[in-house]
Amino acid sequence: MPYRLRGPTCLSFSGGRTSAYMLRQVLDCNADLSDLIVCFANTGKEHEATLQFVQECGERWNITIVWLEYRDNEQGFEIVDFGTASRNGEPFETIIQKRNYLPNPVTRFCTVEMKIRVMHKYLRSIGWSSEETPIDMMTGIRADEPKRVAKIRTRGSTSESKYATMVLPLADAGVTVHDVGEFWRAQPFDLQLPTINGRTLLGNCDLCFLKGAHQIYSIIATEPARANWWAQMESRVKSKGKFSGNGDRFRSDRPSYQEMRDYSDQQFDMFAEHDEAIECFCGD
Ligand code: SF4
Repeated sequence: MPYRLRGPTCLSFSGGRTSAYMLRQVLDCNADLSDLIVCFANTGKEHEATLQFVQECGERWNITIVWLEYRDNEQGFEIVDFGTASRNGEPFETIIQKRNYLPNPVTRFCTVEMKIRVMHKYLRSIGWSSEETPIDMMTGIRADEPKRVAKIRTRGSTSESKYATMVLPLADAGVTVHDVGEFWRAQPFDLQLPTINGRTLLGNCDLCFLKGAHQIYSIIATEPARANWWAQMESRVKSKGKFSGNGDRFRSDRPSYQEMRDYSDQQFDMFAEHDEAIECFCGD
């Protein structure tokens, strides 16, 4: 039974339909939920609809979801809630300021620092993910994401703690994006963000640099103001002028976010068709 809890388990909830589906299965398959902690790590660049969805899952399903955010303090995180969660990229901006360069497709420190590490710091603060209380870390990766499944299975434990074992119940159960879509079509509520071929255009950070170029451009064309924060981060890091490489760009193989914003009202065809999304460990 892939959804059966084997002991203390942290379910990593990304705020997307797939991990919410996983949460529902876990709730349905376990009468005793005392071993379960559900965590959502907010970057501040999530769409408001994602925050509403996380809140609604918690309320409708009567389950506590721990909302966490990265902080540059001794603890390394803060517990927030729907009302106090950052909405202007504050946790993301803080980690960029601390590192003084931007994440990019090769160095994706944003996922690691704001999500994986934050969850582990929180779990350690309550005595979990330790020699005394090893845990399972449940992640919403589906059977139709074989590369991600293989990568995680090869690693076994998480990069953050040898006392946390990665478990992938959706992959074990053979769940695909089709199953997830079917499930949500039958529910009385849903994430209020559109999908294209099962992909949520505005899921995770709104203009995440791992999204396909067409996806990014179509978001900017519809809502140009969404590019402002990303452009600001690029120009702020650039103004420090310490870079010989590409540390002041989220993507060196694309126009800057400011350029994309500037071109957003023109016929815009500077992206190659082959510029696809890169699989993101932030999850769906
Ligand atoms: S969604 Fe993209 S930008 Fe946001 S934390 Fe994940 S990898 Fe980084």
